[in-house]
Amino acid sequence: MEKKDLLFKAQDAFWEVISDNHPEIKTGNFGPLSTFKFDEACERAYDIWIRENTECEHTWEKKIHEGNHFDEITEVCKDCGEMNEDYDPSRGST
Ligand SMILES: [Zn+2]
Repeated sequence: MEKKDLLFKAQDAFWEVISDNHPEIKTGNFGPLSTFKFDEACERAYDIWIRENTECEHTWEKKIHEGNHFDEITEVCKDCGEMNEDYDPSRGST
């Protein structure tokens, strides 16, 4: 299932639980700004969950941190954001 459809289905289930618990409420209003924020939060939660539960193959990317006297070069995975602890700029990639 595509991520967009999956999140839509998940939100549907979310609202179903809430509305089932409030039978006295007959409407389902939720403003556009709230919807936007909810969508964003759901997507973020989804991305984090996938990342934290997926073994990353690591695609290292050099990152230059400009300093006052010299630039520091590190390697950061472009998929998970992890820093390569073994990276030594004087030796290159390990
Ligand atoms: Zn990674």
